[in-house]
Amino acid sequence: MLKLTQISPHVWILPRHPDKNRVQATVGMVLAADQTILIDAGNSLQLARQIQATLAAMGAPPISHVVYTHHHWDHTFGACVYGVPAVANRLSHDLLTQMQQENVGETFLRTKVERNPRLVLNWTAEDWAEFEIVLPEITYEGRDCLHFGDVSLELEHVGGVHAADSTVIKVVQDGVMFLGDCYYPAPRYENPTDQMLDMAMLTNLLDERYDTYIDGHNAPMETRHVRRILRSQALLARLNETRPT
Ligand SMILES: [Zn+2]
Repeated sequence: MLKLTQISPHVWILPRHPDKNRVQATVGMVLAADQTILIDAGNSLQLARQIQATLAAMGAPPISHVVYTHHHWDHTFGACVYGVPAVANRLSHDLLTQMQQENVGETFLRTKVERNPRLVLNWTAEDWAEFEIVLPEITYEGRDCLHFGDVSLELEHVGGVHAADSTVIKVVQDGVMFLGDCYYPAPRYENPTDQMLDMAMLTNLLDERYDTYIDGHNAPMETRHVRRILRSQALLARLNETRPT
């Protein structure tokens, strides 16, 4: 069984794996009265099966939808296990269609292991045979609000350098915001030198109605943590500007 963390009345998460070599992003679970909505799918079929089993064991309502924060493999590749519709913005749909056409999967991840032999991937030959990219059946553009019984999810396409399709998912009743990887730098394979967090984006996302901010690869943050990061990044930027040459 996986160890889940409860964040608020309706929200649980499987926290990101602390070992970066596992590239296991945070998975959110929104437990409405009669259905469970996943925020991102997990990075493998094996993890998705464990998520399914853990939710069943805790008596959570059946999983009804998976909402993607963006198209990257570590957020989407577990989706085919659940057999439920995926929700994402139009651009995620296009990017995942492109990945499907280019057959992005086993070879793509194997190349990553060649580059970083310490990478841990939990995929068996059977899993690859079963694997398919799940395209979003429900798409939106810009902003949308979906109602799942007693819980509403506000979706907002924010884009950014990490992935053009990044979406922020707000659990309205609970004041919890899922950020995906939206304020992160570009992935290393796209731009190895880009290391700056997108502070302007993070500043814009701060909203007094939301107390908890959950991104893909760090621990959940309360508003004061976000403000602290913003201050330290601003200081870094200033130091960089005044750095003697
Ligand atoms: Zn990502």
